[in-house]
Amino acid sequence: MAQDTVRPFTSRQIELVEIFGSQALIAIENTRLFEAEQASKRELQESLEYQTAISEVLAVISRSPNELKPVVETIAKTARRLCDATRASVMEFKDVQFVLIAHDDPGVAGGLVQHLSQTPIKVERGNLPGRVALEQRTIQIPDIRSDPEYMLFVDKERDERRSMLCAPLMRKGELVGVIVMSRNEVRPFSQRQIELVETFADQAVIAIENARLFEAEQTRTCELTERTHELTEALEYQTATSDVLAVISRSKFDLQPTLDAIAGTASRLCGAADVTIFLREGGDLRSTAHHGHMSMAFPYVRQPIGRDWVAGRTVIDRKPIHVHDLFTAGEDLSRGREIAALAGHRTTLGIPLLREGAAIGCMVLRRTVVHPFAEKQITILQTFANQAVIAIENTRLFEEVQTRTGELGQALEYQTAISDVLGVIGRSKFDLQPVLTAIVSTACRLCEAPDASIALRRGDWLEFAAGHGSAWINNEWIKDEKLPIEPGLVAGRAILERRPIHIGDVATAGDDFARSRELAIARGQRTTVAVPLLREEEAIGCLFLRRIEVRPFSDKHVSLLETFADQAVIAIENVRLFEEIARKSRELEIASQHKSRFVANMSHELRTPLAAILGYAELMQEGFYEPLGQKSLDALTRIRSNGNHLLGLINTVLDIAKIESGQFTLNMSEYAIESVVETVRSATESLAQNKKLALKTEVAKSLPIGLGDEQRLTQVLLNLVGNAIKFTDTGEVRVTAKAVNGHFNVSVTDTGPGIPDRERTRIFDLFHQVDSSLTKAKGGTGLGLAIAKQIVEMHGGRIWVESILGMGSTFQMEIPTRAEFQRQAL
Ligand code: ADP
Repeated sequence: MAQDTVRPFTSRQIELVEIFGSQALIAIENTRLFEAEQASKRELQESLEYQTAISEVLAVISRSPNELKPVVETIAKTARRLCDATRASVMEFKDVQFVLIAHDDPGVAGGLVQHLSQTPIKVERGNLPGRVALEQRTIQIPDIRSDPEYMLFVDKERDERRSMLCAPLMRKGELVGVIVMSRNEVRPFSQRQIELVETFADQAVIAIENARLFEAEQTRTCELTERTHELTEALEYQTATSDVLAVISRSKFDLQPTLDAIAGTASRLCGAADVTIFLREGGDLRSTAHHGHMSMAFPYVRQPIGRDWVAGRTVIDRKPIHVHDLFTAGEDLSRGREIAALAGHRTTLGIPLLREGAAIGCMVLRRTVVHPFAEKQITILQTFANQAVIAIENTRLFEEVQTRTGELGQALEYQTAISDVLGVIGRSKFDLQPVLTAIVSTACRLCEAPDASIALRRGDWLEFAAGHGSAWINNEWIKDEKLPIEPGLVAGRAILERRPIHIGDVATAGDDFARSRELAIARGQRTTVAVPLLREEEAIGCLFLRRIEVRPFSDKHVSLLETFADQAVIAIENVRLFEEIARKSRELEIASQHKSRFVANMSHELRTPLAAILGYAELMQEGFYEPLGQKSLDALTRIRSNGNHLLGLINTVLDIAKIESGQFTLNMSEYAIESVVETVRSATESLAQNKKLALKTEVAKSLPIGLGDEQRLTQVLLNLVGNAIKFTDTGEVRVTAKAVNGHFNVSVTDTGPGIPDRERTRIFDLFHQVDSSLTKAKGGTGLGLAIAKQIVEMHGGRIWVESILGMGSTFQMEIPTRAEFQRQAL
């Protein structure tokens, strides 16, 4: 308080002012209190409003958890309203730029929103979201016009924004978007508002995250669905494929069901109106299998291969031909277009059937609408085409095998028949009839003819030698029939021309076969074949078959009949040769008997004069007539010794002659084997002495009395010991005799050269000598052992030799003590 004059205030006055002062203070305090209360009331209301807003957003989020748009739009609207901003927007951060996803601006949005929604914002300091992205925090620019870095992206007139606030949407430390608020005046946002926006930002993050998860889920579901679809489709294809394979394997030998199955499956899987499988037949394609309800207009069933229709072109190009609309196809498919006009198909697909690169046909799918086939379908159709080819191949191979097996079976049957006949030939060497009978019956069976005959040539006539079948059982007359060999008869012609004559129908044959025709009409014979029996160049007979129907014989039948004819000739020849040999050997035998008898007689006759010569020589030597000088005596010794040798030879020849003519006999009587050994010993002792060889005999004690021809047995032992001495130069010759098991066993062992293994049995043959040079030196005829063997065997015994080359030989004989005379056969 002041006054213009110096008049100090009184103490009352001062007191009064002090009271006024206090009152003013109260009044001020009052007002302040009131204001504070008002403010806190406002704050509470604001908080309440904020909370409500936040919970509203949460409600939206929970109402549509998968949808981003309603949530962010609610956020934008609420944030703008609560923060008293001119506009608010939510942007998503994607691929390093910001995209507008929600915007709230009740004023005239104009070019700004349009610009924002069309132009993503880049990360750079010149704009607020970019700056937030770089700094990763909430940023407020009080006035963008006074921010040196800020760049307006529209001109000042249209961009009226002044104070701006931007909060980042962070998810696990990663920026996913921003909320941007702006005011068209310079009025910065309060701390509370900033906090509120940040809360909204968190909520937006949740919404975006939700939406993303949902989207990912959706994509996954989509993918799964797609994949499931793919799998289902693949499975369907697989099933179809394996169905077809199953059909293939079920009907290996029958193509039709397989092709039908393939056509059916292809049309079902690929949604075609029909499927046709064409196979190549010469220069044509013929429809072999068809499935579907489309008309098989005539020209479609069979067409020459050409590029002017789909199937033809598929086969020529060896690749799928896919025509989307045959109606509008070009001139190059003119024939296809014509057929399409008749049958009414549009989209047409041809798939080639390829075997080793060559097209053996094709599969054609047709649709009555324009609806091209999918790539996948074309692939599966190619699989089907391959399967069709496999099936076709299978069938072809099977048929080939069948034919081949049939052929082999027939060949085997023929071979068996031929070898059966050979068997008969082998078994009946002397008898022709069984062979000829076997041939005609086999020929009937294998050549499917009711009758077959073999006739043999006798001069100018054919005589029936064997027959089989109806004509023979029912018509005995044929057997006695004789046919003249004339060209008018099929058989006669075969003989005359020496080649098979095959007439398809004799009953209608020309005049060339007049005689046969006559007979055939009378007897109801039609197809006839006659095969000549050729020996060298000569026809010795003929084999002929007839049928009562007209059915010509196959080439195989005719060649089989030729084989049979050859076999008949062999059999005939065999029998002829056997008969000739038998006759010849009978003649030979007789001649040989004559000779043996002559030799036997001759030898016998020679012995008489020789005995006289020897007798007189002995008398002279013993001085019966007159005493003789030493020289004469020596000469007589020589005469006697040579004479005896000659007698021995004559005896041997006589024995052989007797053996050969079957006159050799034994004189059976009782004998002592000891005396046989002793006789031989004394007869050969001097020979052994002359060669300085020891001659030893070992005879067992008290041997039984034997029964046999003592003289002949002596002859055998003499021969064995004589040989032993003859062939041995040093050492000894030992003779043993013993009785074992009712047999005498007599052996002669020497220390001579021995006998090689291979000679051991042969030396017992007539005239056989081991080594002729040795025998030349030692002398001999090669007959001794043969006679010895004969004698021993006639006693029912056996003789053999054991030997070691260079060490010596042991001849042994074993004779029943009581022998029975055995007839010999040499
Ligand atoms: P040969 O009159 O030639 O002796 P054999 O029939 O008695 O006729 O004997 C036939 C052949 O057997 C003799 O030529 C000889 O080669 C052989 N041979 C027989 N005995 C003996 C033997 N003891 N040692 C060696 N070779 C023997």
